[in-house]
Amino acid sequence: SRSLVIGGCAMLDNDQAQVVAHDDGPAAVLAGAGSGKTRCTTERAARRLTESGVSSDGLMLLTFTNKAAAEMRERLRSRLPKQLALPWIGTFHSFGNRLLRSYGKTIGIPKNATLMDADDAGRMLDAFLAAPFPDKTRRIDAVRLNEAINAHGLDITAEADRPAIEHLCDKAGFSGHLLRGVLTALTRYEKEKRRAGILDFSDLILLPARLLRKDEALQERLRQQLRDVTVDEAQDTDGAQFRLLKLISPHSRTVLLVGDDDQAIYEWRHARPENMRDFIDEYGATIYRLERNYRSTPAIVTGGAALVRHNENRLEKNPYAVRKAPERDGVRLIHYDDSDTMAEGVADRIHAATAQGTSPGDIAVLYRKNRLARLIETALLRRAIPYRIKAGTDLLSYADVRMMLAAGRLAINRRDVRALSRLADLVPGLGAKGVGQMIAAGDDPLQHTGRLSAKAAKGVGELASALEQLYRDGPDKLLHWCENTGLFRSWLQQRAKNSLKAAGRPIDRSELELALRPAKGRMGAIQRAMSKRLETAARNASLDERWATGLEVIAGGTDEAETDQPKVTLCSIHASKGLEWPIVHVFGFSDGLMPMAREDTVENLPEERRLAYVALTRAQNQIVLHHAERIDLGTGGGAEEMQVSRFMVEINRGHQIELIDRRQGKSTPDNEESQKPPKTGWRKCVRPSTHNPNRQCLIPYCLTRQHGTTR
Ligand code: ATP
Ligand code: MG
Repeated sequence: SRSLVIGGCAMLDNDQAQVVAHDDGPAAVLAGAGSGKTRCTTERAARRLTESGVSSDGLMLLTFTNKAAAEMRERLRSRLPKQLALPWIGTFHSFGNRLLRSYGKTIGIPKNATLMDADDAGRMLDAFLAAPFPDKTRRIDAVRLNEAINAHGLDITAEADRPAIEHLCDKAGFSGHLLRGVLTALTRYEKEKRRAGILDFSDLILLPARLLRKDEALQERLRQQLRDVTVDEAQDTDGAQFRLLKLISPHSRTVLLVGDDDQAIYEWRHARPENMRDFIDEYGATIYRLERNYRSTPAIVTGGAALVRHNENRLEKNPYAVRKAPERDGVRLIHYDDSDTMAEGVADRIHAATAQGTSPGDIAVLYRKNRLARLIETALLRRAIPYRIKAGTDLLSYADVRMMLAAGRLAINRRDVRALSRLADLVPGLGAKGVGQMIAAGDDPLQHTGRLSAKAAKGVGELASALEQLYRDGPDKLLHWCENTGLFRSWLQQRAKNSLKAAGRPIDRSELELALRPAKGRMGAIQRAMSKRLETAARNASLDERWATGLEVIAGGTDEAETDQPKVTLCSIHASKGLEWPIVHVFGFSDGLMPMAREDTVENLPEERRLAYVALTRAQNQIVLHHAERIDLGTGGGAEEMQVSRFMVEINRGHQIELIDRRQGKSTPDNEESQKPPKTGWRKCVRPSTHNPNRQCLIPYCLTRQHGTTR
């Protein structure tokens, strides 16, 4: 096919060139993974800025993660003449945050409002739900209900939204007196957030929308200014984000939605993939499609397509790989006894690859549950392989990181009672009861130590002055503060000791050091992400604003800034969206994890399949799926028995997967053909593999036995 050269360097195919050439009016780009959607987005932005006379502050690119935003920024920077400023590129949440920081006063949001993470928000809400709903499962339902209300962009305090809210309540099983109970609790939660000057995630979308509706002059100004808006990964926007988008980009505007329905993986968080379709209908958008896959080898492209074809109600696509198969082209499945040997196996392969000259930066390990990361971390640490945990909001699932951010929050906003409750663990003898007494006593709880034990009061005093110091030092010094504040240091060490004890390991100095390293690494990652963000934020901003910007990592999820040293990426599949690596390992390609099952039921099989599709399509040259028969999720419940993922059969249609057995006594050496297939579990596959025509593949019996028929 003919291709087009733009700006003298980038090659685009005909379909891509049309997207890049799109000028005015609404448009949708619908295409599969690796087809160049994101690339077209940045190319188009560059063209609009240099050729169409759109100014930098008239163009905005919205995407799903800070990492994706950072990449777009870099790519665009290299395509623009030096004198041109970069347009605004970020997530919906950071866009909302920016609006709130500048204009929030109109709706009563102070400049030093602190952001709390989802877990803190959940606990705070839970406290209000406790009285009307003593039953824990009811409360979980109510938290989910609150998320749904927010994701729909509804305002619990607005009369006009009541019918829609009551409808959602009804659907969630809250009617009659339950309805009254839940509405009261949710309303109290909203009021408490405002009183304490705290924001949660959804506030960053809902409050800006409220602000724009209230301040029509501001809305008009914004509309005039933002002439050209693109949303990448649009399949994962929710109703509230779509509403916000409509407020800033009415129908007549140039607005592009870019996405892939097969990669919709946030329905569980109330994303509405239908937004794309609604947008096309409501805006009368021009539709562009791309079919060539530039990212992956043919085996990976075919495997991914074969898998996702098992879903219904999807946009039919016929992707084909532009790349020719290189020698090490392919999809592999490796079978282990248990998750520990699986972690060792992954680390060994990575070690071997890097020893042969592969850069660690070219390798990623993806997993379905963050808990699995700790196994890989340990295995990599022992081999001294540098790695980083790519976060999304994953890093926030660690207590040490939460504690660190809570310190930052309390330093900036003394009324942030959630942050205070978390910090309670730092002060020996304080406990939840002590915190409760302090909060009950008045508006600046840290000042009210009167009813505490002498020991606790002393600790609180120490904490208060350390926090004052932290506030003055600014967000750049947060990590330094954690490392040098006695209370924080002893807390970290105590935790490390406890986990060593639980693992039955001897606690000597070097073991303790090793156990502390992951926590330090995570906190370092947070600090670097913050500092990177602060670099782009105004240097002369007030201390409060600098803190607010620094802590915004909570909202969009942190992504560690690239350092000079290339590192292996560890990352949840959810957070891997839009990214790519030459070699991708999937850790735990097992039924129960992929698809994820709770008590043997899979909640949303199509979404789980899309998630597997996302994982597969991150790989450029090699994808290695790892399965273990017993997987320890670290929940304390011991290892769980698992079968290989049912998606294996679906991927395997259309081409073969190379199988490697690493189970005790069954291990297949690299040259499998010399080995008799073990009776249990494997049978010979007649098809030779692409890169070795003489090799025969092995297919686990369970694939044909267990999951029966496939289409
Ligand atoms: P995803 O759905 O996973 O987000 P995508 O459609 O956004 O994928 P990109 O990330 O833009 O795809 O592109 C995938 C890879 O293909 C990138 O490495 C990109 O540079 C490369 N690529 C895209 N178009 C071309 C092209 N015309 N020629 C060469 N390489 C290309
Ligand atoms: Mg993309």
